[in-house]
Amino acid sequence: MLSSRTSRISVGIACLAAAFAGATVSASAADSDATDAPTYQEFKASTYVDVDGAYVVNGDEVISNDGALKKFYEQMVKPKSQKDGLIVNRVNGADDKWSSSQALNLTYCVSTKFGSRHGDIVNAMNAGAALWENATSRVNFVYVSSQNSNCNTRNSSVLFSVEPVNTTQYIARAFFPSTPKRQRNVLVDDSIWSSGNWEPGDILGHELGHALGFRHEHTRPEAGTCFEDNNWRPLTPYDSKSIMHYPQCNGSSSDLEFQASDAEGIRALYGS
Ligand SMILES: [Zn+2]
Repeated sequence: MLSSRTSRISVGIACLAAAFAGATVSASAADSDATDAPTYQEFKASTYVDVDGAYVVNGDEVISNDGALKKFYEQMVKPKSQKDGLIVNRVNGADDKWSSSQALNLTYCVSTKFGSRHGDIVNAMNAGAALWENATSRVNFVYVSSQNSNCNTRNSSVLFSVEPVNTTQYIARAFFPSTPKRQRNVLVDDSIWSSGNWEPGDILGHELGHALGFRHEHTRPEAGTCFEDNNWRPLTPYDSKSIMHYPQCNGSSSDLEFQASDAEGIRALYGS
């Protein structure tokens, strides 16, 4: 199943295929009886540990520590309930989003460690941010180039950092508003430049969607696959073309482009 699905994916998505394998663990755990679900130890052992010691789940989302990973696992193996209707992450029953003042000042730097690709990353971040910014007047990403030479999660002059990573686990990964500052970065692998018809600006647009609080659209039951967990709340009707929907999870768009439903979703969460 994994191979037939991944074989339809265009060139350069090998690392997303790896990311997708993680999603499959979730899907099979959730779709099967509890007896078929992996134990927590098995799940933990199969979970990728990133450069900062954080766990990467659902392909490109980060979890800070063992306690949070355990909570994530418990939610994941709970029987799935039918929910309908972009989706926002929920933490302790509340929307995982920025305050209205912070949402207008989402500051970031782009590490000079990107070297000759630095300008290209700056442009792709601009393009990805613009997708969301053009849909609402309530969200504004602010590029702080003066922090580029010290661009990491310890830099308190920016809300988050954009840094290079060298991994086969994913193309890029991000964080949620609730993620502690120490893990609040967007990590980007060089494969972003060879990801078939997924444009770098759209890939980073997807990651910034997580940074704004949005979950993968394909965890909704309508996708019929790639279920992650139920810690989310619907903002719009299901859209299999959403920028937050992996095309390889029964998506109906192959290019990760921003959709009208995504614009509607951000306005539902942050206002217009
Ligand atoms: Zn994602």
